[in-house]
Amino acid sequence: MLDNFKLYNSLSNEKEIFKSITPGVVKMYVCGPTVYDLLHVGNFRGLIFFNLLRNWLQYLGYSVNYVYNYTDIDDKIIKKSQDENKLASEISAKFIEEFEKDFKLLKIPKASQNPKCTDYIDDIISFISNLIKKEFAYVKNKTVFFSCNKFTAYGKLSGKNIEDLISGHRITVNQDKKNPIDFVLWKPSKSKEPGWESPWGRGRPGWHIECSVMANELLGDQIDIHGGGMDLIFPHHENEIAQSESMSGKNFAKYWVHNNFIKFDDQKMSKSLGNIIKARSFMSDYNPEVLKYMILSVHYRSSLNFSFKQINQSIISLIKIYTALEKANNYIKEKDNEKDNDSNFSYFENDLNIVYKSLNNDINTPIVFAQVFNVVRKFNNYFKNKKNINIAKEFLSFFNRVGGLLGLFSEEPKKFILELNLILLKEKDISLEEIEEKIKKRDIARKIKNFKDSDLIRDDLLKKGIELKDTINGTKWSVRL
Ligand SMILES: [Zn+2]
Repeated sequence: MLDNFKLYNSLSNEKEIFKSITPGVVKMYVCGPTVYDLLHVGNFRGLIFFNLLRNWLQYLGYSVNYVYNYTDIDDKIIKKSQDENKLASEISAKFIEEFEKDFKLLKIPKASQNPKCTDYIDDIISFISNLIKKEFAYVKNKTVFFSCNKFTAYGKLSGKNIEDLISGHRITVNQDKKNPIDFVLWKPSKSKEPGWESPWGRGRPGWHIECSVMANELLGDQIDIHGGGMDLIFPHHENEIAQSESMSGKNFAKYWVHNNFIKFDDQKMSKSLGNIIKARSFMSDYNPEVLKYMILSVHYRSSLNFSFKQINQSIISLIKIYTALEKANNYIKEKDNEKDNDSNFSYFENDLNIVYKSLNNDINTPIVFAQVFNVVRKFNNYFKNKKNINIAKEFLSFFNRVGGLLGLFSEEPKKFILELNLILLKEKDISLEEIEEKIKKRDIARKIKNFKDSDLIRDDLLKKGIELKDTINGTKWSVRL
C-alpha cells in the first residue's frame, strides 16, 4: 500500500527511493561495538534507530536479514586484558554478556545475526590473500597493507580527495607503507598478545577487514543497507568499500545510512571531557523507555542533545501519553459489555496515515511524535465530551501499531506512570509518602468543610512542584517542572 520509501544515502548525499537488490528481501549490515567496556548512550542510538528502520522495512513487506557484529579483537581489548591480567577473549566474552544484558532492557527484537570477528579468522585470511593476489594489497614486515592508490574510487563515500589525505599525513609517515594513507589488513602479534597463524606470520586482523568479510560471508558481496554511526564514515566505511569492491568488482552497499551523535549539555561526549553516559546507568537512573523515547524523538541524522531539562521534559511527555493510555484501558475494562454502536469508526485513521507517511519519508520521527501528541490531545478532548468505547479501542490500537514500530508504549500504564513520577520526585524536596499523607489530611479537611486548611495544603504542595487535581476517582497528583 505504501511505496516509494525514501531513505537518505550518505553515498549520494541525497534522499533516494529505496529499492532492494532482490525483490522482497533486504540485507542490512550495521557495525556493532568493540566489546571492552559497557556501551554508552551514543552506541544505543544506532541500535534503537536501526531497529526502527528494520521494523519499517518489515512493515513495507520486506524480509530483513539484519547483521550486527561484535568486534571482539582489537588493541583496546588487548590493553584491558593486560591491565587486568586476563585473556583478551575473557574480556570480550564478558562485555558481550554485559551488552546483551543492557540490550534486553530495551525490549526490542535482536538482530538476525550477531557475528564475532574471531569466528571468521580463516575467512579473513583468505579474503586478504585474494586481495594480495589481485594486487590490491602488499606485505611488508609481516604486515599486510591495503594499497589505496589501486582503488580508484577511494574517497567516494566520505567525499575526501586522495591527494588531500596524503598531504594531511606527511608528518606521520609509516616507513613500511608505500603510501601514507594505506591501511592495515593484518598485523603481527607480539608473543603475549593473541594471534593466529597466517601466511604472513602469527598475527591478527586490522579493524576494517572484519566487516567486509563478515558482510560477505553472511549476506554476500552486495548488500542493500550498510549502517553505523556518522563517525564511522571515515576511515572505517571508506575502507570497507575499498576492500569489498576491490575484491568483487561490484558495488558493495547500495545505501549507506548513518546516525548522528548524542551530545550532553551541548558538548560532544568524550572520554577527555568525562561526560560519557553509559547506557546502563542512564537506564537505571531513568528508564529504558525514556532512552528510546529521547533517541527517537529527534531525527536520526540530527544531533541529539541530552540535558537534564530535556530528560525531564521527555518524562513529562511520556506521563502524558501513558495517562491517556491508562484512561482508555480503564474505560474499556469498565464497559467491556457495551455494544459497539458505530463500528465504522475512524477517529485516528488519518493520524495513523500521517505517521506511516512520515516514516516512509526517511524515518521522520519528529513528525511521528507530533502526530502522537495530536492523537493524545484529540483523545482527551473526545473523552471529555463523549465517552465511547470505540474511541478508546481505536486509541489503543493506534498506540499498538505505532508503538510496535517504534519499540515504545508497551509498559503497564499505572505502574509506569508511578515509576516516572518517582524519577521526577528525586529532584524535588518531597517523598511519595509525604505527598500521600498530605492528600489524606486535605481530604479530611475538605470533608469537614475546612477549606482554608485544604487550600493551604494544596498551595504548599504546589510550591514544592506537586500539583493536585480532584477527580471522581479521588485526588491525583502530578509533578510540575
Ligand atoms: Zn564495521
